[in-house]
Parts: sequence; C-alpha cells; structure tokens
Amino acid sequence: MTGRTLLDYQAVVGEPAMSQLRQLAHELAGATVVHVNSTREGGGVAEILNWLVPLMNELGLIASWEVIEGNEAFFNTTKAFHNGLQGNALALPQSMIDAYEETVATNAERMRPLLEEADFVFIHDPQPAFLLELCPYRKGRWIWRCHIDVSHPNRKVWNYLKSKVSAYDSSIFSMPDFAQPLNHPQVIVAPSIDPLSEKNRELSAAEIDSTLARFGISRDLPILTQISRFDRFKDPVGVIEAFAMLNSSVDAQLVLAGGGATDDPEGAVVFEEVQDAAKGDDRITLLNLPPDSHRDINALQRASTIVIQKSLQEGFGLTVTEAMWKGKPVIGGNVGGIRLQVYNHHTGYLVNTPEGAALRIRELLRQPEKIHQMGATAKKFVTDNFLLTRHLREYLTLMLGHRRGMKDHLIAV
Ligand code: UDP
Repeated sequence: MTGRTLLDYQAVVGEPAMSQLRQLAHELAGATVVHVNSTREGGGVAEILNWLVPLMNELGLIASWEVIEGNEAFFNTTKAFHNGLQGNALALPQSMIDAYEETVATNAERMRPLLEEADFVFIHDPQPAFLLELCPYRKGRWIWRCHIDVSHPNRKVWNYLKSKVSAYDSSIFSMPDFAQPLNHPQVIVAPSIDPLSEKNRELSAAEIDSTLARFGISRDLPILTQISRFDRFKDPVGVIEAFAMLNSSVDAQLVLAGGGATDDPEGAVVFEEVQDAAKGDDRITLLNLPPDSHRDINALQRASTIVIQKSLQEGFGLTVTEAMWKGKPVIGGNVGGIRLQVYNHHTGYLVNTPEGAALRIRELLRQPEKIHQMGATAKKFVTDNFLLTRHLREYLTLMLGHRRGMKDHLIAV
C-alpha cells in the first residue's frame, strides 16, 4: 500500500483524467489481475508495480504482485539473457537454459493456483516468461510486458525467448522500435512515474540541503548527476570520461549514485570499474545507495543543475522522467526510450559519445537561462505524457480490448 488515493492524484492530473479511469475500470470491477516480475526493489519495473498494483485495487480490480525467487545461477542467467536481448553476444549453453527453466518451474509450483485462476496475468520481462507453459489450465488472458530494448537482440536469445512468449495473448513494448514479429497483438505503452511517491513528491529546501550535507556534497559548484544501477548499459564510465573532458574553464562536480537490484548480479563489479575510473578526481562523488533510498534520490535529482543519463541501451529510463518531472534538463544517450523523452534542444540533449556529452554540458552550464527554460519544458512534457494515470488508462484499455476479443497485430492504445 502506498497510502495514496485516487483523490490525491486527482489534484495533480485533474478530474477528467480520473473520471475516465473510473469509467474504464467500471467494466473490469472484480477482475483478478496478477503481476509477476523478478525483484521487489531496485530498477524501473519494481518502481512501477509499487503504485500500479494499489491503484488497480483502488479502481475496483483485485490486483496482486508476485516475485520470482531464484538463486545466483538463475539471476546470472537472466542477466545474461537481458544483456543478450539488448544485443550482447551470448552462446546460450544448455546449462543456462536448465538453470532458468528449473527455477521458474519451482516458482510455478507456488504460484500456479493464483495464476491459473486469474482473469489477467501481466508477466514483466523475460525472467518469469516461462510461467505460461507451466500453467496449462489458465483461465485468463496473459500479457507479456517487455520493459527492455529488444530492437536488435542477439538472435539465439531472442529465438529462445520467442518460443516462450509466442503463446501469450498479447505483448506490450515501450516504443514501436522494440516490437518484434510475434503472432499476437503488440501494444505500445510507454512507462510513467508516480508524481506523489517518495521519489517524486515535492521536498523542502531544508531537506534537500541536509541530504547534500549527509553525502558531503557542497552547493558551491553546479551539480551534474547520473542516477542508475551500476550497469554497463548505463555507461557510468562514459559519464566520467565526459566529465574529464570538460576543460578547466567549466567548474562543476559530478555525482554518480545508484545501487543494486536483487535480480542484477553485476552491480558490484561495475561499481568497482566506476571507482577505478573516478580515482584521483575529488570533484566526483560516488554513492552506492541502499534500495530504499527514494527520498535521497529525489533530493539529489532536485539539487542537480543538469541530469545525465548516458545509457548505451535503454528500455525507457525512468530516471530521465524523474529528473524532467523535477524541472531538470537531461543530457541523455541517443538510444531507446530516452528518445521518447529527451526532445533534442527542448527538454535536453541527445548525445552519442562522451565528447558529445561534454560539449552539451559545457554549453548548458554557460547558459543558466537555457537550463531553466529546458527544465520547464521538460516538466510540462512529463505532465502531458508520462504520469501514471495515462499509463494505467492504457493498461485498462488493453484489458478491455482482450475482453472484447481484439484481433489487430500492432495497436497503439
Ligand atoms: N533507482 C533506485 N535506486 C538506485 C538506482 C535507481 O531507486 O540506486 C531507481 C530510479 O530512481 C528509477 C529506477 O530505479 O526509478 C530505474 O529505472 P530505469 O528505467 O531508469 O532503469 P532500470 O534500472 O529499470 O534499467
């Protein structure tokens, strides 16, 4: 439970958006919905399920959230799948497939009664995808929700995953570029943020200052920040390279903050690589944060002059949305879902290299008025496109579409 009600959101998004949600949900009242993913905290999917499940319940559906439990071999395998789906080379030995299928089968024993009875099952990402095959007496509609950039997947990994997801009733991708040839409806739904969560709610100036003081960050220099899991696709080392390229005429400091997710075993190794890259530069602050650091992340984003998200691949990038919601321009990698959000020259800049990032940081830091203008445009862009009510409306529409027997193969709701 988040403790927040629909009425609280009405104050942010307005009455018409809320009444539209109530109308859509009316026809689905009492429908049972189960979401399954692979971690309760850390990463964007957990961030979304934290508000989506309680809000579906408040709208009269009966929603719940299950998490796949696995050992190290399982999460090493699913992380390798994840990297393969985002384009990395992977041999995919039988031992990996066995580690994956055995763990999902163990989880299926526990979840089967709930899943087979549910009216709608949303399976998030590849980790739980095999569950469908293990629930032969399912009654409801099953939807595979892909949050990652699968536009150029490693073919072996994709072909294996395709054999698992083809039997779903539909799949959801965050943008059209990610859609794959599948013989069922594919729906495009962009993610969103909860504007009232601890991560995104307003904070007092005093709280922001005290968070900075606790982390030993001064306000004397402009603050450039990247918040991300320590993952090579987020390119934290590339951010440090860009920072090193700023010449001495630009005075700034860099904060790289992030932590792990229980389904991401590579975080510790990548954090060491980042520590090595940052060595010797006392203008860089590295923060390895515990998973419940939502308010601290909120304060860091609000204290930032510019937010960076220099990813090399990105399903969506909720950190970009979070920063824009706080009125910050974002310098983002020219990839995946960042392109849906960073509207080049308006809400920030899209960059392809550390050199490009350095150029744009330098340019922006010299124009405080532009920082302000871009930040205001960014906030408006999120308000119009990436708040949770739009996201929820699209999920409800899809569920109603299933109830009414939708057939088309690529649908934008
Ligand atoms: N996040 C967090 N703690 C961290 C790093 C990230 O709470 O140490 C949050 C971040 O604020 C965002 C989400 O995790 O809400 C990351 O989502 P995103 O889509 O940016 O990337 P993902 O981690 O899902 O690839």
